[in-house]
Formats: sequence, structure tokens, C-alpha cells
Amino acid sequence: MKTTTRVAVIGGGVVGCSVLYHLTKLGWSDVMLLERSDLTSGSTWHAAGGFHTLNGDTNMAALQGYTIKLYRELEALTGLSCGLHHVGGLTLADNQDRFDMILAERAKHRFMGLETEVIGPDEIKKRAPITNINGIVGALFDPLDGHLDPSGTTHAYAKAARMGGASIETHCMVRETNQRPDGSWDVVTDQGTIHAEHVVNAGGLWAREVGAMAGVYLPLHPMEHQYLVTDDLPEIYERDSEHPHVLDPGGESYLRQEGRGLCIGFYEQPCRPWAVNGTSWDFGAELLPDDLDKIEQSIAFAYDRFPILGTAGVKRVIHGPFTFAPDGNPLVGPVPGLRNYWSACGVMAGFSQGGGVGLMLAQWMIEGETEQNTFSLDIARYGKWISPGYTLPKVIEFYQKRFSVSYPNEERPAARPNRTTPMYDIFSRMGAVWGQQFGLEVVNYFARDGEPDYETPSFRRSDAFAATGREVRGVREGVGINEVQNFGKYRVAGDHARAWLDRIMAGRVPQPGRVSLTPMLSPKGRLIGDFTISCLSETEYQLTASYGAQAFHMRWFDQHQEDGVSVENISDQRTGFQIAGPKARAVLEACTGTDLSDMKFLDVRHMRVGMTDCIVQRLSYTGDLGYEIYCDPMAQRQLWATLWAAGEPLGMVPFGMRAMMSLRLDRFFGSWLREFSQDYTPAETGLDRFISFKKNVDFIGREAAEAERETGPSRKLASFEVAAEDADVQGYEPIWLDGAVRGFCTSGGYSHHAGKSIAIGFVPSDRLAEGLEAEIEILGQMRPARLITTPLFDPEGERMRG
Ligand SMILES: Cc1cc2nc3c(=O)[nH]c(=O)nc-3n(C[C@H](O)[C@H](O)[C@H](O)COP(=O)(O)OP(=O)(O)OC[C@H]3O[C@@H](n4cnc5c(N)ncnc54)[C@H](O)[C@@H]3O)c2cc1C
Repeated sequence: MKTTTRVAVIGGGVVGCSVLYHLTKLGWSDVMLLERSDLTSGSTWHAAGGFHTLNGDTNMAALQGYTIKLYRELEALTGLSCGLHHVGGLTLADNQDRFDMILAERAKHRFMGLETEVIGPDEIKKRAPITNINGIVGALFDPLDGHLDPSGTTHAYAKAARMGGASIETHCMVRETNQRPDGSWDVVTDQGTIHAEHVVNAGGLWAREVGAMAGVYLPLHPMEHQYLVTDDLPEIYERDSEHPHVLDPGGESYLRQEGRGLCIGFYEQPCRPWAVNGTSWDFGAELLPDDLDKIEQSIAFAYDRFPILGTAGVKRVIHGPFTFAPDGNPLVGPVPGLRNYWSACGVMAGFSQGGGVGLMLAQWMIEGETEQNTFSLDIARYGKWISPGYTLPKVIEFYQKRFSVSYPNEERPAARPNRTTPMYDIFSRMGAVWGQQFGLEVVNYFARDGEPDYETPSFRRSDAFAATGREVRGVREGVGINEVQNFGKYRVAGDHARAWLDRIMAGRVPQPGRVSLTPMLSPKGRLIGDFTISCLSETEYQLTASYGAQAFHMRWFDQHQEDGVSVENISDQRTGFQIAGPKARAVLEACTGTDLSDMKFLDVRHMRVGMTDCIVQRLSYTGDLGYEIYCDPMAQRQLWATLWAAGEPLGMVPFGMRAMMSLRLDRFFGSWLREFSQDYTPAETGLDRFISFKKNVDFIGREAAEAERETGPSRKLASFEVAAEDADVQGYEPIWLDGAVRGFCTSGGYSHHAGKSIAIGFVPSDRLAEGLEAEIEILGQMRPARLITTPLFDPEGERMRG
């Protein structure tokens, strides 16, 4: 066995083997995999082997598409069979909401190059004749769906990796991972110690235990899962072709042909978490005892949907555990707080996602960044607040909702409220309807008398529409107030703070008392942050950005640490409010007893508001006259009392995130992970206007940004007014020009101020012109859209700057 290696991958399931293969594919051959038993001896061996591209998260769907297309390549490379059955699959919709979801998915697939098709009940009956189509509205057919041999596929990855120079040690149990001062690792196994530059945790069912060896908690939990294989059925084996997969979300089941019979698995409601206190090292290639009682109701539903099942005996029951993260997506990437330690865990659909996970991780390790936005699978989407007490109920909730419709406005209730600000009870009494962001309760809207105190999930305009409109008007016509807690905030201080910021951020670093906006770029010139920098003094700065990106941004800052500068995450240490609207200045003047007419747009100053010391800066994401007022959380209720007492006589209204997202549309402001993400560049999104090409600093991403400035981007963000009816753009809807899909939406919604449906999205740069006629496909309907360049509110910025 080698005693030194560049990478030690711990775990020989499908995910570990895929990571190993992709490392070699991208050029690292000095890599090894350590497996405590034989390959596949975790969840992998007992998987049903199904794969599909359908995923409500577009980046995950793309990753799944990559995984599925990889199998043929793997077979050709290794000469081994993955046991592929590309039989195609149908996802049934038994109500209008599910059908809406299918229509939305189909629309997204158009620009992803996936050839899915929406079909009606008669066609369903033709393609999947064992289906009872009573009550079925339609289905999505995906020709790429299918199944494979889990063991054969894992061994194909392993062989391909060995062909690329990797070594694999089976029956080699990792007992400790100890970091050396230089950041490399001693991986202690029962076969000896290996010195590795990097460690990858692909421990699957034991990922929690492997993580604990390095002192990290990985938010994942195993769940029990069961599928049945039937005896032979003539209706199946007498067919000329293999029966396609049928996913029946209404019955929470997936069904496919297995040999001469069928195989059907369930995501049952009375589900059961497994190994709550940790996975035993003694658990091996064994199954859990059958438990048909647990899936009794699901089976009864399936007998109705697929009556043929009632005639079949059960040949085999497979009942085994596999792991989930709280949101069901994998946990991938560099683990925050550790050097050279990578996660490839929580992969609940190893055969749909394993290839993509391997590719992303290998790109990250070797090239320093991924080609695709990985935020939805990045382990840094969770912060330090994550704990087993949160993970377990969330994983149970995810399992139970695995096949539920996922709505764009849905707020799932498990493990909430988790983190709250001092305003929680005050706002609750005022009718707050809460959402959740990075563990934090955030107000979506305030329900007044008669308005719903629960927003019904929907693809169409929701029942929060009226309340949102009321709050928007309250801001535009008077003054509104909401919390600034849900910004990520960082204190950057020290003698070298300015120099450091100049290198990390692409934009201009402001002078004392001033604020600037700037993109943060990766070395390849991709957007990894859109920041506001407030210069409190030459040696102290406050940065604000997306609250949900805290761990992601802090990891980046830690990786770029320098002497003479300290960077501290103060997101939860600094809270406060923003007030916005034409009367915002009057409210602040009343609270401070000062004339604030000299405080210009993008000024920042220390101020006493009532009895509270605050940092106040003049800007607002609403695009209106506005102030962000930051204080210590201990003083937040006092600050509230001051602002509310001054604001209420002026008609001040509290507003939530639904109103905020409508207000920002009036000025076409982009938002993080919608318009701005690692998938896009500054020139594509217009954030290049904030890059300081003049500054004499080699900031990260400069070369790429300059190159893009030379050539110009091939696509650019544009805003559209859409002739929508009861459903607005949510994101990823295709944009059609001259009868062909030429772009896609990044976000959209309803501008309550202008009374218009607005979409933001990418179109080819050479088509970007006022008045361009387009069509946007919303829930299967082509909606006429017209490109607009004049903001819907305050086009000259007079109110915002005035
Ligand atoms: C009943 C059932 C049906 C399923 N059906 C499907 C399906 O149809 N399609 C699909 O895509 N997915 C399915 N899955 C999920 C799938 O099995 C998992 O997504 C996948 O196996 C995860 O692979 P992994 O490599 O992450 O983990 P694992 O397979 O658990 O592999 C982890 C490996 O790490 C090794 N290891 C752990 N600790 C150490 C250590 N300290 N030292 C050395 N080695 C160590 C283990 O021995 C193990 O081999 C199903 C799961 C179940 C239970």
C-alpha cells in the first residue's frame, strides 16, 4: 500500500469511486481510495439502480443529466457493463398543481437540451399500459430515465480510475484523520498510515463518523427505505419491449420492470430514521428486516394505480438505509473551517447524481472552482448553526415530501422556528407570516385582518398577493420598515484592510464615510458575490452581502487570509432595520433630531438613533430613498420602539420579503443566486459597471474580466414586461425569439407599483434592444413579452439619490 498520496478518498461506494475516477480524468493520478470492506458495501449494493434527470433544482437537473450521459462513456472506456436499461420514464400528474410543475420542468428542459415531453392520459396508457389513468391529468416523459446495475457501475468507475493511475485499497479501515500544521493529513488505517495532501469524505452511511474523526459535523441522516420485487408477470414478460419507469408522486412510489416482473419502491409517510445515534461500524452488507406494515398504505395506493400488482406475489423485499441532507441535495465541497478536507456525502440518489458530484468535486480540487454553480450542493449552504437536532426533523420532512410538488413560494415547517431575532414576537403580534433563510426566521409579509396568515404554496400568484401589494404601496407612497438581519455582514479591519479588499473585490474600495457596490470574482472571472462595502474608517469596513452565502463567503475569505487584516463574520452580531420610501428621511430626522439633508446617497456614518448607537448608510434595495440602520441585537427592540414611534404617525408600514422582491423589480435590481451566481460573469449581468479597471491592483478575476471586456459577452441580462395572467416568471422559463428558445429567465414577479408582470433573463447580446418582442413560456403557455430598459420607478434615480 502507498504511504503517501495527493488525495485519499475514504469510501468505496458509487460516490467515492466516481470522485476517484474524475480526479484521474482531470489529470491527478496520484490518488487512492480506502474502503473498509469491499467496494459497494454501504448503501450502494442494495440500491434499486434507477436514474432520472427530473429535479426541481435546475443545477441539480443538469448534474443528473451529466451523470446519466456518462455511463455509456464509462462502458466504452472500461469494457465493463453498467447494466444500462434506457427505457424512459413517466412522471405522473394526478392534479393541476403537479401538472403545473411538470409544465414548468418541461419548459426548463428546453434550454438545458433535455428532450422531455408532456403527454396526456391516452398516451400514458399506450406507453405504460399497466397504469390506471383514472384521475391522471398528464405526465412528463423523459427518454433518458432508466436503471442500471449498481455494483457493475461502481466497478466501472473503479476500473476507469485505476486505468487513470489511481489505486484502491479494500479491507482498509480508516480510523483517524489527523491534520498536520502544513494542512496535509495523516490518514490512519488498520493497514498503516498514509500521508495525504487532501482527504475526501465519501463515507456514505458512515460519513458522520468519518467527519467526526476530523472534528466536523456533517448535516446528514440515514433513513430506512424499502422496495419490492414481484414474481414474474405475463403482462410484463410478454411485452415486445421493456416497460418504462413510472413515477407516481401521488402514491409516493417509483416502479420499473425488473427482469420478468416489476420492482416498486416507496417514500412512505410513516417513515423511519435509521441509526439516530450513529452508524455502527459492525453494519455491513446486510439488509434491515422486512417491514411491510410501514408501507401498507402506499401498497394499497399502488394496487389501485397499477392493478396488475394485486395479481403478483412478492419475490423479494429490499429494505436498507441511505443518507439525506436536510434539503435532500448532496453535501459537496471544501468543508468550512478545515484545510484540504472535502465532502462528497449525503448523496441520496447516487446513480442519478454520483457522476456530477465526482466531476464537480474534482474540478473544485484541481482547478480551484467548478464550471457550474454548485451552491445548491455546496456544504457551505449550511452554517455553524446546523445541528443534529435540526437535521433529523428536516431529513424526515424531506423524505416525506420527496415526491411532493415543490412550489417556488413554499416554506416547509419542520425544525422551525430555529433562529429568531429579538423582533420575532413583536412582528408575530403584528401578523408576520414567516419564511426561513439560512436557519433564520424572516418575515415574508404581514397579514392584516382577513388576509391569510399562511401563504398557500402555488405556482400562480399566491394568496399573499394583496398583502404584498399593500406593503409595496406603503413604501412607495409613504415609508416602510423591515429588518436588515438577513444580510450577511462582515467586519474587515486592520492596517492592510484596504489593500486586502482591493485584491479580493473587483470594485472600488470607498473612502471613509462612503459606501460602494462591488462584485467579487473567482479567478476565472465568475461572480461569487455582490457586496456593499462601507468604509467606517481607513482601517475598518463593514461588508454586506447575501445572508445565505455567509459560510460560502467566509470560506473564501479564510482561504485568502493575509497578515494585517482580520475578517469577522458579524451577520448575527449586527442587526437593525431599513426604512424606505419618500418619508424615510423625515422618520430618521425625527429619531435623531438632526437635519439629514447633507447625508448623500451612499454615505455612511455613526449616528445615535433615539438612545441607540447605530451605523447608518443611505441606500436601499427597494430603489427608493432609504436608510439601512445597523445596531447591536441587544438594542434592537429599543431601536424599533424609537423608529416605530416616529414612523407610525407618518403612516409607516412594516413590510416583508415578498414586497422587497417586488420593489426591486421596479428598478430591475438583480439578486444573489438568481441574476448573480457563479454561473454568470460581470459583463453578462451588468455588474461590470462596478468593476474598477482603473485601480492599479491585480484583483482576483481581473484577467478574465478584462478578456471579457475585450470580446464582450455573448448573452446579457435584460428585463421584460410580460403579458402574464395569474402566473409570473419564477426563474428558468425559456425565452423564445423568432420561434426558437434563445434565452432563459433568471427571476421575475409582479411589480405591484407598476401593475405589471416583469421577467429578468438572458438573451443574446446582439438582440438586446428596447422593444424586442419575445415570448416567455410560463406553465406551458406562451406569453408575449417586450424588452424594456426604463425602470418602472424613479427612472432617473432622483428619489433614490435626492
Ligand atoms: C433501498 C434503497 C434503494 C435505493 N435506490 C436507489 C435508486 O434507485 N437510485 C439511486 O440513484 N439511488 C438509490 N439509492 C441510494 C443509493 O444507494 C445511494 O445514493 C448511494 O449508494 C450512496 O453512495 P455513497 O458512495 O455515497 O455511500 P455508500 O454506498 O454508503 O458508500 C460509503 C462507503 O464508505 C465506506 N466507508 C465508510 N467509512 C469508512 C472508513 N472509516 N474507512 C474506509 N471505508 C469506509 C463504506 O464501507 C462504504 O462502502 C437507494 C438506497 C436504498 C437504501
